Amino acid sequence: MTDQAALQSVLDRAAAGGRITKEEALDLYRHAPLHALGQAADAARRLRYAGTEHIATYIIERNINYTNVCVTACKFCAFYAAPKDTKKGWSRDLDDILRRCAETVELGGTQIMFQGGHHPDYGVEYYEEHFSAIKKAFPQLVIHSLGASEVDHMARISGVSAEEAIKRIHAAGLDSFAGAGAELLPERPRKAIAPLKESGERWLEIMELAHGLGVESTSTMLMGTGETNAERIEHIAMIRDTQDRTGGFRAFIPYTYQPENNHLKGRTQATVFEYLRMIAIARLFLDNIAHIQGSWLTVGKEAGQLSLHYGADDLGSIMLEENVVSSAGAKHRSNRQEIIDLIRKAGRVPAQRATTYEHLLVHDDPANDPVDDRVVSHISSTAIEGGTAHPELKLISTN
Ligand code: SF4
Repeated sequence: MTDQAALQSVLDRAAAGGRITKEEALDLYRHAPLHALGQAADAARRLRYAGTEHIATYIIERNINYTNVCVTACKFCAFYAAPKDTKKGWSRDLDDILRRCAETVELGGTQIMFQGGHHPDYGVEYYEEHFSAIKKAFPQLVIHSLGASEVDHMARISGVSAEEAIKRIHAAGLDSFAGAGAELLPERPRKAIAPLKESGERWLEIMELAHGLGVESTSTMLMGTGETNAERIEHIAMIRDTQDRTGGFRAFIPYTYQPENNHLKGRTQATVFEYLRMIAIARLFLDNIAHIQGSWLTVGKEAGQLSLHYGADDLGSIMLEENVVSSAGAKHRSNRQEIIDLIRKAGRVPAQRATTYEHLLVHDDPANDPVDDRVVSHISSTAIEGGTAHPELKLISTN
């Protein structure tokens, strides 16, 4: 039987900012009572943010999905179309992408997440052209996009090194990497769900390269595709080891696998209970990563709100547009006032943040809450009734 006193002693050490081992993290993840885990993680968060611990943040952004054509065919993905599937595949032209950027700016968004498939024709040149056009038209927008998988792919298409690819897209306007594509980094679960993706070691190697070149990133984890608890802990240990060398991960963002329209057919899923435990363990174990993000998009608004009491300091984004996880069944939507209310009712003061986590607007007086009711999350996926495959999703009416 697990010694509760020993578990509590590890929790106390982590809550006070001390480092815990991988073995201790696994023990806590498996056996610590949920409330004790949350209490320790919340204490660690308060300690890290002493002085601003009453604040929880959110950001306004737009995912811009530039193509769904992809050669990588991940088994959990409901978004992609194989290159030969010309009926399902689509790509957006630059004018369409710039229109989406313009709407983002008009609605007070500060960041775009360029996200798409591994298109067989899109090398470094494609991203250079698009990022420089976006920056030229909207210098105020932060391009927080792509990740190691896209770099690996585009470098191969263009016949250049990953280092050259990063330098060139950074020079063209990419500000930071979003860090998608991490999925699960350990070999067994990664091969099971994304056999054609680069290895977890390669994903980290490219992120390390990027951090060394001055391009910071966030980091992610996809939970619920049949991985073991030990593999989840191994994933965050691999990230912590890299972060010890680079310091370039700004945040860690776990999110849950969505079960619809993909090859895995929803046979496994992470529960809210497992998700909250992971948020707490991330806060306690990742003592070298500043921000832990709670997600409402995949786990729901109430679980997102609860995550703020399990170590999360940020509630992610009001995504003006999202098509990838919604293709696989994530149906949650929200709007700016609702996110503000969720944070406030969790006992925190909401603040809109920048990509680099500075507070842009602290909502400390409800009487001064923003009033633009167009700041709403939209989805336009094939999986959602009323959605469209190649959406003309105009957030702002042109009439
Ligand atoms: S997750 Fe990304 S790389 Fe994998 S199939 Fe989907 S679009 Fe392609």
